[in-house]
This record gives sequence, structure tokens and C-alpha cells, in this order.
Amino acid sequence: MKLVWPGAVYHPPGIAVKEGYFLRRCFGKYNYVTGLHRAITNSAEDSGWHRFASAESCKSLARIYIYTADDCNDSDVSRSESVLAEEIFNREPIRNGIELQITKGLHMREIDVSEITNAIRELCIEANHTLTPDMKEALDRAAVTEESPLGKQILEQLEENLVIAKEDMIPICQDTGMAVVYLEVGQDVHFTGGLLEDAVNEGVRQGYVDGFLRKSVVSDPIERVNTGDNTPAVLHYFPAAGDRVKITVAPKGFGSENMSRVFMLKPADGIEGVKNAVLSAVRDAGPNACPPMVVGVGIGGTFEKCALLSKMALLRKAGEHSEIPYVAEMEKELLERINQTGIGPGGLGGVTTALAVNVLTYPTHIAGLPVAVNICCHVNRHAVREL
Ligand code: SF4
Repeated sequence: MKLVWPGAVYHPPGIAVKEGYFLRRCFGKYNYVTGLHRAITNSAEDSGWHRFASAESCKSLARIYIYTADDCNDSDVSRSESVLAEEIFNREPIRNGIELQITKGLHMREIDVSEITNAIRELCIEANHTLTPDMKEALDRAAVTEESPLGKQILEQLEENLVIAKEDMIPICQDTGMAVVYLEVGQDVHFTGGLLEDAVNEGVRQGYVDGFLRKSVVSDPIERVNTGDNTPAVLHYFPAAGDRVKITVAPKGFGSENMSRVFMLKPADGIEGVKNAVLSAVRDAGPNACPPMVVGVGIGGTFEKCALLSKMALLRKAGEHSEIPYVAEMEKELLERINQTGIGPGGLGGVTTALAVNVLTYPTHIAGLPVAVNICCHVNRHAVREL
């Protein structure tokens, strides 16, 4: 028989283990399992320790696991043991045969999901009104290098549009997109106060309603009734080390989204096949993707993985290249060849069809070479915050 904490343990910031409170709250927060006999389920938030203490069943346990904070020293551990003895066993010696197993270094940071909601609300508004500095610089560079007078004029108008959007708090584009939200969640984080997904959607709802952003989401792809608040978001979770949460909100316009493609190539198609796939997607997109574009490319993984990679590639700064030498070379070559298509700014001709080509790769199956191309317009929006 043993008492097991389910995974890592909540550790309220600023409350030391030696005070005993940590343990008390832990017992209250989680369910505990006695291995052989039964489950002790304790859902009471604050009285859990006492409920546990009063339960006769706890005295028949063979082993109790205690997880302490990583800065807990030996005297703190002894104190924890005495707290346990005092509160569970009424100052009686811990019954023979009950083993205490103490593990240092596990703790959880608690984040109320309302913090997620607030952050996402603000990020939705921020992303729709300001581009990241790298995108602004890419447009600046293009306005200088563009050879077509009309193309140059369009680029200058796009720059002016950015200034107006920021100063007058008007969205950069009328299509304020579907909210794509990436959450990198440290595995030492415990969310409280509700469901994380509900909190994300509440943040999107508040951001789009309070920010007067266009509501572009329909509840069903065929019946097409507008949800009225731009929810739900498209949410991607990624587990990470530590106790931080990184939130990225990337509203995606559908003029360019509609021009994105997945190609399930054969391994024999090789790198030339990949380049041809990307170029054909860009040619097919033409003016419909509101160029100048940023071209996100995912190579490898599975059907869905390469699509996600291609979307995540849009988050990399314009002008930065892959750390993999052959991939960086491919990015440069593709950018040059795309800009030779003549599609140009606004699709009206010129040498600036794309501002960047960003490629991400992933291991794949011996029998396949998946390639995805996620095209983004010049309004390549994303805003990031870390909690
Ligand atoms: S594709 Fe981009 S620029 Fe074109 S309408 Fe949509 S958000 Fe706006």
C-alpha cells in the first residue's frame, strides 16, 4: 500500500514546506491513491489535510510520499516529518511499518487561468494593431529595393497603414483573422480557477469584443453561423520544462490561409521536389494571398505535423534563417526565386512577392516526404507574452 501524489505537487510561492501548510494544501488539492486497497479521494480545497488526518484509513498505509520544495534543507525535512506525525498521527509515533519517502525538488507553480484570459485579451488587441519590428523592417527594406514604381508605392502605403493602425488604434487589416494560440506550458505549472481552454477562449472573446475587432469565425463549417465573438481559438499546446507559460497569439487572415497547401511527396522527390512544391503553391496563390507574403514551410513529420510546422515557421523573425545550413540555403534560394515570379506587391508586379521564406523540419517516415506551405500575407501578426 502506498500513498502517491499524482505527478508533481503544488507549491504555493512564498510558503515554506517547513510550515506544514504546503503539505496540508497538497492533501487538499489532489486525489491520492492507496495502491492495494482503495482510493482516498479528497476534493476539499483547504480542509483536506484534516480530513485525511481524521481518516482511519491513512493509518493503514505502508508508505507515504512527501514531495518537498527544492530549497528544503534537512531540518526542514525533519520538520515536515514532525508535522506529519503531529497532524496525522496526533503526536503518536508513526506506526511501525509506515515508510516515509521524501523527495526534494518537486514543486508546482500555480497560475490562475484568469491570468491567461487577461494576457490573451491583450495579445489579440496588440497583434491586430502592431506588427513585430522585424516585419516592419522587412517592409522598409522592400520599399527601398522594389524596382516597380507601382510596387514601391504599394509598399509605402502598407507602411503608412501600419503607422495609422498603431497611432489611431485601427486594425492593420479588416480581416482580423482566426485566433491561433500557441501555449508552451512548463510541466511544473498547475492551473487553477477553471479550465485552461475555456480561459483561452474567454481571452479571445474579450479581445475581439473589447478591441472592436471583426468577428470572422463560424460555428460550423457548413452551416456557417457566426459565433459573434471570434471564438473558438485554434489552440496548440506544447509541454516545456520549468514553471513558465509562453503565450503566442497569431491571428490568421484567410485570404492567405486559403492559398496554403500540403504535398505528400515521395522520398525520391528530394530537395528539388520540395522547392518545386513551394514555388507551385506561391504561383497558385498569386495576388490572392495579399503579397508581399511570408512563406512558412514545414518539411517532414506526418500530414498534420508538417502543416503545423509550416504555420509555426511564420513566427520566426523575417530575415533570420534556419540553423541547419542546407535549410538556410534553401530559404535564401526560394526567396530569390519567389521574388523572380513577378507577382509583386499587391499582385501588381514587382520584385517583392515575399518578404521571407521560413522553413522548419522534423524527422519523418522512411516512406514519405511531407511538405506544407502556409502562406501569410504582409500582415504576419503575432504577439508573445511569458507568464
Ligand atoms: S490575407 Fe492578410 S492582408 Fe489579405 S485580407 Fe486577409 S489579413 Fe488582410
